[in-house]
Amino acid sequence: MTQRVALVTGGSRGIGAAIAAKLAEDGFDIAVTYASNATAATQVVTRIEALGRRAVAIQADGATTEGNSAAIAQTVAALGRLDVLVCNAGMYPYGPIDEMSVEQIDRTLHLNLRAAMVETMEAVKHMGPGGRLIYVGSAFGQRAPFPGISLYSATKAALGGFARGVARDLGERGITANVVEPGPIDTDLNPADGHGADIIRPFTATNSYGKVSDIADMVSFLASPRAGYITGTCLAVDGGLTA
Ligand code: NDP
Repeated sequence: MTQRVALVTGGSRGIGAAIAAKLAEDGFDIAVTYASNATAATQVVTRIEALGRRAVAIQADGATTEGNSAAIAQTVAALGRLDVLVCNAGMYPYGPIDEMSVEQIDRTLHLNLRAAMVETMEAVKHMGPGGRLIYVGSAFGQRAPFPGISLYSATKAALGGFARGVARDLGERGITANVVEPGPIDTDLNPADGHGADIIRPFTATNSYGKVSDIADMVSFLASPRAGYITGTCLAVDGGLTA
């Protein structure tokens, strides 16, 4: 069987690291990108290699065109092909819109949204039938349940529109495009014991945070042949936040 390859952006920590490890367990060779935390990225590579898979860590700023292009090019150069792209790297600017700067607006748009567009454009040049485009959105792409998240919500909501369009562009080539929309997940970005947790937690139906494995399991399913007829949709993994 051909050895399949997945790229997970922002795969050095949190949700991305869990997705990378899960896809390696599923049999993929893995590329991860990171911004600055080379130590964490190296640990992810070591963990994947221990599973008998090939892995590579790529330093690439997802807020730049160069970083987006390098992520795809270096994955293909190191691992030979690309079957699954998981656009996961993201940032969470918090605050009312009149306290945001234009620089914050631009950087959030670039990392949370534009990166998915540029990476998809480059990635699909290498993908054949069975290819998978998976975008990590957010439950806040569907709801803005409290103030301070307008910019974040806008970028995550736009991923849904993008995935719907890309699904139409690529469906007949056997490539699917979907968004996974997490609720609150315990990571460095949103610790379950952090000061924002008591605000967010009650908006879930379960009154609880999720685990990184909750998201990795959904991505694993979407990346598998079992999900070949699922495309152009947003899948909530959010403890009922959007219920
Ligand atoms: P973390 O902050 O825990 O991890 C972020 C990861 O992204 C790290 O690997 C980091 O690399 C990388 N990264 C950050 N900035 C850049 C950049 N400019 N270029 C490349 N890589 C970058 O975040 P989470 O795991 O919590 O979040 C992952 C995704 O899930 C995000 O898109 C987020 O919006 C989304 N999400 C998270 C939720 C949550 O509750 N945690 C809820 C809903 C959605 P490095 O290690 O080098 O810093």
